[in-house]
Amino acid sequence: MTAYDVIVIGGGHNGLVTAVYLAKAGQKVLVLEARDVLGGAAATEEVWPGFQVNTGAADAGMFQETIVKELFLKMYGLEFRESPAAIFAPSPTHPLTLWHDEARTTAEIVQHSPRDAERYPAFVRQVNRFTAVLQAMMLQTPPDLMALGLGDAGWGKVGWQLKRLGSPDMMEFVRVLPLAVQEYLDDWFESDALKGAIGADAIAGNQLGPRAAGTTLLLFYRHVNGWLHGRSPLGGIGQLSAALASAAQQAGAEIRTGTAVARIQVNDDGQATGVLLADGTEISARVVVSNADPRRTLFDLVGPQKLEPRFMRAVRNIIYRGCTAKLNLALSGLPEFVGQTNVAQLTGRIRLAPSLTYLEKAADAAKYGRISPQPFLDAAIPTLTDPTLAPAGQHIMTITMQYAPYCLRASDWANERERLGDLIVDTLAPYAPSLQSLISNRQLLTPLDWEQTYHLTEGSIHHGQMGLEQLLVMRPVSAWGQYRTPIKNLYLCGAGTHPGGGVTGAPGYNAAREVLKNSA
Ligand SMILES: Cc1cc2nc3c(=O)[nH]c(=O)nc-3n(C[C@H](O)[C@H](O)[C@H](O)COP(=O)(O)OP(=O)(O)OC[C@H]3O[C@@H](n4cnc5c(N)ncnc54)[C@H](O)[C@@H]3O)c2cc1C
Repeated sequence: MTAYDVIVIGGGHNGLVTAVYLAKAGQKVLVLEARDVLGGAAATEEVWPGFQVNTGAADAGMFQETIVKELFLKMYGLEFRESPAAIFAPSPTHPLTLWHDEARTTAEIVQHSPRDAERYPAFVRQVNRFTAVLQAMMLQTPPDLMALGLGDAGWGKVGWQLKRLGSPDMMEFVRVLPLAVQEYLDDWFESDALKGAIGADAIAGNQLGPRAAGTTLLLFYRHVNGWLHGRSPLGGIGQLSAALASAAQQAGAEIRTGTAVARIQVNDDGQATGVLLADGTEISARVVVSNADPRRTLFDLVGPQKLEPRFMRAVRNIIYRGCTAKLNLALSGLPEFVGQTNVAQLTGRIRLAPSLTYLEKAADAAKYGRISPQPFLDAAIPTLTDPTLAPAGQHIMTITMQYAPYCLRASDWANERERLGDLIVDTLAPYAPSLQSLISNRQLLTPLDWEQTYHLTEGSIHHGQMGLEQLLVMRPVSAWGQYRTPIKNLYLCGAGTHPGGGVTGAPGYNAAREVLKNSA
C-alpha cells in the first residue's frame, strides 16, 4: 500500500495545475513545496511589511483560459486586472506608448514613422493569425515521432489551424518562425524605437539577442493569447497559485509548504516509489510528478547513476544559461518619466529597449560572461492598478534586467550584486530623474538567487533556454517530450517541458493528462 497515488514535487503554478487535475480525477495527491510560499517563479511575497511584491513574473497574459474555465478559478478568488497601456518606452525626444487600443497605438507610431503606423494593423493581424497556430499546440502533448503519433486528434487541430491560414500565409509562417526577430521586424518596420519595444519580448529570459535564429518564434510564443494581451491577478501574480491551491484542496489534495524533497526513491526495477524529504521522512506514492526543472529532477533528486548514459548525457547538455536579474523597489511616491504625459502610460511595462542594436549589444556582453553595461530593462509599477499591494501613497516598482549571466567570467555574484543594483538604478536615472530619491528599500535577485532560493538550475527562468533546439519534441530532451522519463512512474510537469516557460499552466495541464492516460 502506498500512502498517496501521486506526489507532486514543487508548488509552482504548473505543479499546482497538475495537482488540481489529478485530484479532480479522484487521485490522492500530495504537493510538496520546498519554499514557504507557493508560486515558484511566479510568487507574490511580503518582502517588506505591507509591500506585496511579485518577486519573479508579474504578468499572467500567457495563462491558458481553458484552465481558468475548467477549474473555475474565478470561484476561488482569481480576478484579473487589465491595464490601458501595454508598453511605454521613455525617451526625452521620442517616447512611445503601445496601448491595448490599436487606434491609439497607431496614432503614437505615426510620430515615429507614418509608414510604420500604416503597416502596424496588418502586422498585428499577421501575428494574431500565426499565434493561433501556436495556441493550438499549447495544450497538446508533443507527438512521439518514433511511434508515429502525429495523427492524434490534438495535432489534427494544429494542422487545421495551419490550413486555415491559407497557402501564402502558411508558407510565410513556416518561413518566418526560424528567423531572428530582427530580420522579421526589419521586414515590417523602420522605426528603431518601435522595433526595440516590440522585439524585446522575443529575448525575455534567454541568453539570446534579437539576431539569434528562432527569436521570431519566441515573439509569437510571448503573445500566444493574442498580440499584447496582458493581465495580472488582483493581489499579485501569487493569487493565481493561491486560487489553484484552493481548487486543489477543494478536490482533496494535500499541500505542504516548507517541505523540501531530497530524493526521489527508485527501486531496483527502475520505478519511482516515492520521495525522501530533507528531514529524513519517507513518503510512498504510486506516481511522482516533478515541477522542478529536468536537470534538478533527474540529477539532484534521482541521481545520474540511475540513468542510462545516453539519456544522462542529454540531460547534462540541456542549455540553461540563466541571464535575468530583478530589482524590486519600495517607493515612497510615484516617479515621473521623461516623455510621459499621463499616468496611464505607466500602467503596463516601462521598457528600456531603444533599438534592436541596443539589445544585441546588451546580449554581446553576456556571451563573454559579462553583465551588460547598458542593459535591457523591463519595469512595472503594479501599485498603479492595484494600490492594495503597498501601504497608502507608496508604490512598488519591479525591474527585470538582462543580461546578467549566471556564469560570470572575471567575478562572482557575491561581488557583483550591489554593483548590479546600482547599475540598474543609474541606467534608469536619466529616464526617471526622481527615482533614486523615492527608493525606500530594494531587493536584488541575481541568477544565483534564482538557483539557490527559487531552485532554478543556473537561474534559468524558463527551466532551460527556449532555443529552437530545445522546443516541442526536443523539450526537455529529444525523444522524451511526452512528460514521461526513463524512470517508470516519474513524470515532469514544469516549464522544462512543452510548451516551455512563462506563466501558461500548459506543461502542468499536459502532464496531468499523460499521468491519467498511463494509469488508466
Ligand atoms: C524575474 C522573472 C520574470 C519573469 N517574467 C515573466 C512574465 O512576465 N511573464 C511570464 O509569463 N513569465 C515570466 N517569468 C517566467 C515564469 O515565471 C516561469 O517560467 C514559470 O513561473 C515557471 O513555472 P513552473 O511552475 O514550471 O516552475 P517554478 O515556478 O520554478 O516552480 C517550481 C517549484 O518547485 C519547487 N521545488 C524545486 N525543487 C524542489 C524540491 N526538491 N522539493 C520541493 N520543492 C521543490 C520550487 O521551489 C518551485 O516553487 C519570469 C520569471 C522570472 C524569474
